Amino acid sequence: MVTNDIIQKFKNLLGDKFVLTEKNDLIPYSKDETSDAQAFPDAVLKPENAQQISQIIRIANEYLIPVTPRGLGTGVSGGALPIKGGIVLSLERFTRIIDIDKGNMVTVVEPGVITGKLSEAVEKQGLFYPPDPASLDSCSIGGNIAESAGGPRAVKYGTTKDYVRGLEIVLPTGEMITLGGRIHKDVTGYNIIGIIIGSEGTLAIVTKIILKLLPLPKFRVDLLIPFQDFRNASSAINKIFETSIIPVNIEFIEKKAINALKLYLEEDFPFSEAGAHLLVGIDGNTKENIEKEYETIGEVCLNAGAIDVFVADTPQTKERLWKARRSLHDALEKKSRIMEREDVVVPVTNIPDLLDFIHRLSEETGLEIVPFGHAGDGNVHVNILKMDTPESEWKRKSNEAVEKLLKEVIRLGGTLSGEHGIGIVKKKFIPLSMSKAEIDLAKRIKQAFDPNNILNPGKIFQ
Ligand SMILES: Cc1cc2nc3c(=O)[nH]c(=O)nc-3n(C[C@H](O)[C@H](O)[C@H](O)COP(=O)(O)OP(=O)(O)OC[C@H]3O[C@@H](n4cnc5c(N)ncnc54)[C@H](O)[C@@H]3O)c2cc1C
Repeated sequence: MVTNDIIQKFKNLLGDKFVLTEKNDLIPYSKDETSDAQAFPDAVLKPENAQQISQIIRIANEYLIPVTPRGLGTGVSGGALPIKGGIVLSLERFTRIIDIDKGNMVTVVEPGVITGKLSEAVEKQGLFYPPDPASLDSCSIGGNIAESAGGPRAVKYGTTKDYVRGLEIVLPTGEMITLGGRIHKDVTGYNIIGIIIGSEGTLAIVTKIILKLLPLPKFRVDLLIPFQDFRNASSAINKIFETSIIPVNIEFIEKKAINALKLYLEEDFPFSEAGAHLLVGIDGNTKENIEKEYETIGEVCLNAGAIDVFVADTPQTKERLWKARRSLHDALEKKSRIMEREDVVVPVTNIPDLLDFIHRLSEETGLEIVPFGHAGDGNVHVNILKMDTPESEWKRKSNEAVEKLLKEVIRLGGTLSGEHGIGIVKKKFIPLSMSKAEIDLAKRIKQAFDPNNILNPGKIFQ
């Protein structure tokens, strides 16, 4: 229970304005982007610095109050939902880009910085922060660290975990610690940064971040490559890698997703009659190299059954393609507000088998299943749409379909989630992917960080 006395302590610490308790004010913090999920906190706290967070955590420990950290609420596995009540700790006031350090090729930021804003800021200085979740205009760097967010560019550039050089964190026991720094190497002690990344706000609250930057590539071209059917498109992915060219991205989009996009954006899409598209990006520092690479990729795809190769090399054409790609989630949501959103990963060479399986699963169950996403790194978003499936059948049918899908993913050498995390929506499937010994070890790590289990309880393993 968060009593009035405790609320008063928080108000004394933060000021009345930054402690929300009215039902209407709590509504935005009771949801994230997870389909059909909601949980209300007793209060929302909006601190502005790590010292305040440390004091909040000490009070929370004293009264055993659950604390759920929150970035900007775009998560799709329910990680920011306060399912045990208590406090939502919003990092929305941590919005400073503290430094862009060209000498050390790093940036120092607060966790509430919007990912897309950081990318723009560093690009103005000729630098590059590659992780690019499709939600980049609305998600935060802190949320990205907590989920180890990826994005299309992961094929060539990796995910958030590959860019974190240092962190300042507040432990669930209230101590503040700094890890790493503006340094390339660090094997002093355990890799605690590695444990925090992807821990979904269950082990620590991230209050400052040092991120590695790269030089900004001078040129970039995107290819939209339509195929007659999804099998040609999926088998072309491996053929692209056989050329030894590593594209920035290889996104896979099927016809069902294109149809949803056309309805949502109210505009046509190039080659919209094709069975599937690949969206392949290439970057580099000379036009000649890029031209050579896209000609090679184009040829390989045409030999693999592509209908055509559309080259987007102007800002307008590129923007049109990426706007469409980034709208896929919303387009499907317009078709069916309720859906199961899986985020599975398999070895890239098994993508054709996975897509075959998904098609069979859709036929078998009669459910509309739309796969799309980062096929070039083996990470496919599999969306199972409720559409007009009767309420009485939806839970059972979708559960069975998800379980079959995840078992097949494991059989193919894959795992449950590539970037969306486990949160509340996938925790029951954890034993499919992790052994008892591994789960027990993870629980002991949680216990070591958070002996009173106050930080984001009920998530991942609980
Ligand atoms: C349209 C759409 C497209 C998306 N595309 C992608 C994509 O391409 N790739 C991808 O990886 N994800 C994608 N996502 C998912 C989502 O945007 C990411 O998971 C993102 O990293 C969440 O950031 P957030 O700031 O919204 O975090 P929130 O949703 O607020 O929180 C997510 C988790 O992080 C924890 N957390 C947040 N901040 C902190 C902090 N400072 N310290 C400790 N824990 C914290 C929370 O407790 C929670 O568990 C997409 C979502 C949508 C809606």
